[in-house]
Amino acid sequence: MPALGFGVFQTAPDETVAAVETALATGYRHIDTAAAYFNEREVGEAIRRSGLDRSEIFVETKIWISDYGYDETLHAFDKSAGKLGIDQIDLLILHQALPGEFDLTINAYKALETLLADGKVRAIGVSNFMPDHLARLLEETSVVPAVNQIEVHPYFRQSELLAVDSEHGILSQAWSPIGGITFYRGGPHGSTLQDPTIGEIAAAHGKTPAQVMLRWHLQQGRQAIPKSVTPPRIAENFDVFDFELTADQLGAIDALDTGVRGGPDPKEITRETFGRDIPEA
Ligand code: NDP
Repeated sequence: MPALGFGVFQTAPDETVAAVETALATGYRHIDTAAAYFNEREVGEAIRRSGLDRSEIFVETKIWISDYGYDETLHAFDKSAGKLGIDQIDLLILHQALPGEFDLTINAYKALETLLADGKVRAIGVSNFMPDHLARLLEETSVVPAVNQIEVHPYFRQSELLAVDSEHGILSQAWSPIGGITFYRGGPHGSTLQDPTIGEIAAAHGKTPAQVMLRWHLQQGRQAIPKSVTPPRIAENFDVFDFELTADQLGAIDALDTGVRGGPDPKEITRETFGRDIPEA
């Protein structure tokens, strides 16, 4: 799995083909989508148009909570693979835990284990799982998730969860890696892109704040999946392999953590409040 991928949350279907084609032409080889983003079909179209061999591209998608349950999740694979137009998904993950219906979550994960054993997916994982969700999952299932995709940016680092992930050999994958959720959703602490500390570090390297944040993830061993529909930003976010942050700079960014999440609290996810119908392929 490449260290840096490309996200398409909130990328409208009519913008997705162009964004993903641009990303693939730039050099990204990992695309992160989800059934609940309603753009898997367009991601598949961009992959076909890219001219790249399927084996060169790492495709990750997510099962939405409305499709949890053993049989339902097996069928959700068919829906996603059908829309993407591929036979095998590189990484298939559960989008959220359902804390109030954890048995359903476990059964969904057991379906992922079956898909893995059958070779329909190459790896399985989870997203937005907190330490207690991981503990219960590890107790009741046999395959350790390859990744836990979680909110991580300078204003919300989730240090304890990162430590739990690494203790179990689970790769932490940072969503909103440049703090998108701090500006597109608002919040108490303003935009990470405007942060003076990050700005100073960026100026010292002749780089941008987004590039500094991505470097912070990569140097601390996290995978990151920045999203953009803007070609110069798609290129900018990939141009992060020619500089290195110092230990002091990494520490200064760590110190910006506010402990306040931007996204929904994983404890509060229910099918009643977040359920959405995922159409057939
Ligand atoms: P990001 O941190 O990637 O920020 C995206 C936002 O930043 C967009 O508004 C984009 O605008 C803007 N942007 C991108 N690059 C730059 C740049 N270089 N300079 C200035 N602005 C920039 O946030 P996301 O929340 O989108 O997270 C990334 C990915 O993580 C998602 O696309 C999705 O794949 C995944 N994700 C997963 C979640 C989960 O629950 N598992 C939740 C949220 C995200 P524009 O597009 O207009 O250029």
